[in-house]
Amino acid sequence: MYTSAKQRGSSRAPNYSSGGRTSNGSGRSSGNSRGGSSFGSRSASRSTGRPSFGGNRGGGGRNKRKSSYERIDVSRFISKSTVVEKEEIYLPTHTFGDFKIDTKLKLAIANKNYIYPSPIQDKSIPHALDGRDILGIADTGTGKTAAFLIPILNKILKDKNETAIIIAPTRELATQIEVEFNDFAQGMRIFSVVCVGGMPITAQIRNLRRECNVVIGTPGRLLDLVKRGEINLSSTRSVVLDEADRMLDMGFINDITFLLEKTPEDRQGFFFSATLPKPIEKLIERFATDPVKVMVKTRETSKNVEQDVIRLARGEDKIDALCDLLSKEKEFKKVLIFSEMKHSVEKLSNELVKRGYKSGSIHGDKRQNDRQRTLTKFRNNELNILVATDVAARGLDIPEVTHVINYEIPQTYDTYIHRIGRTGRASKKGVALTFVG
Ligand code: AMP
Repeated sequence: MYTSAKQRGSSRAPNYSSGGRTSNGSGRSSGNSRGGSSFGSRSASRSTGRPSFGGNRGGGGRNKRKSSYERIDVSRFISKSTVVEKEEIYLPTHTFGDFKIDTKLKLAIANKNYIYPSPIQDKSIPHALDGRDILGIADTGTGKTAAFLIPILNKILKDKNETAIIIAPTRELATQIEVEFNDFAQGMRIFSVVCVGGMPITAQIRNLRRECNVVIGTPGRLLDLVKRGEINLSSTRSVVLDEADRMLDMGFINDITFLLEKTPEDRQGFFFSATLPKPIEKLIERFATDPVKVMVKTRETSKNVEQDVIRLARGEDKIDALCDLLSKEKEFKKVLIFSEMKHSVEKLSNELVKRGYKSGSIHGDKRQNDRQRTLTKFRNNELNILVATDVAARGLDIPEVTHVINYEIPQTYDTYIHRIGRTGRASKKGVALTFVG
């Protein structure tokens, strides 16, 4: 059982370079030259009067699947970390210089201080540059974003009429992709539009009607825009499904199928998923042609994460216990607290603020701008506590989270593993504490 007096953790050096960057979240990347292609309604290839998919939107994807509550053996929440294990060193077979890509792109990669390709990049980029479909079995933190952005940008640099659609499960992940996109595309006059729910659709429509090459979005909003005739995918020859298994979990399978159906036969597909559940396998079978399968050994998060449980004493108030913990531990530098419900996330964060903690919250009921602002503050250490629901925190790459606290037990062990994977990254030691009983 967890005792706060435990000695743990060493200093946490900064890890990846993209961490503190923020996006305006408003949807359009910088720049203003409009020489290329467009997704907008004035696109020549737009087909009119497409029958809409099952009439009004609504029945399909956005209804969250009711997940069954798994009874998790509490002992699975306790594990000593193997303290700062050296990650297996991967020797890439390429340098970025070896890739047959535009020099502008090589420069952008160097500007991001990427020295060696990560395994997923090393193994997939050469094939992607040859036009092959890619099936990447890889989790967040593996560098999968650059693995699809680099070949896509290279394609667009060759032909400004090329367009791409990147479909991600959450607004935050879409925005994160846009940040990385903007880093790479700086000065290239290649433009993206982010189309996510929770942000004004009119601004997105306005941006789509201007020239842009890349649309990054969440399934529901993308579907909406396709149905309104604002996005035309008939000549979009690069398609990315990021975290496909998460999209399945969130009930988006029909939406993404619909979107894929709208893309041309000669599309190049980049399918990324941490796992390969049957429906995703089937989807890929249907939409990919002889994909190059790249599996990246997912870092065993739990090895770097010391896990323990916290049991409340009889009659002890849970928030008091949490605050006790937070105030005792000097090491609680950047803490991600998970709670199940949107309202309990909000309530807990407000209570922490009242008690003098620098806390913020993200959950589905918050406006996208607020969520983004809070995330940026957490990234920049203006907040050191972030209270979140699972969905809001999915796929986020926040460097240097020292502790994950499960204020409420997650519904499945898989969710637990995802949650604790937010700490102990890049060979750092992390701590995960779970309130039980
Ligand atoms: P991703 O899995 O795409 O979310 O990437 C995780 C983190 O790794 C991000 O902060 C990226 O900027 C960073 N990253 C991706 N590729 C590399 C690389 N080749 N070298 C160093 N950092 C990288």
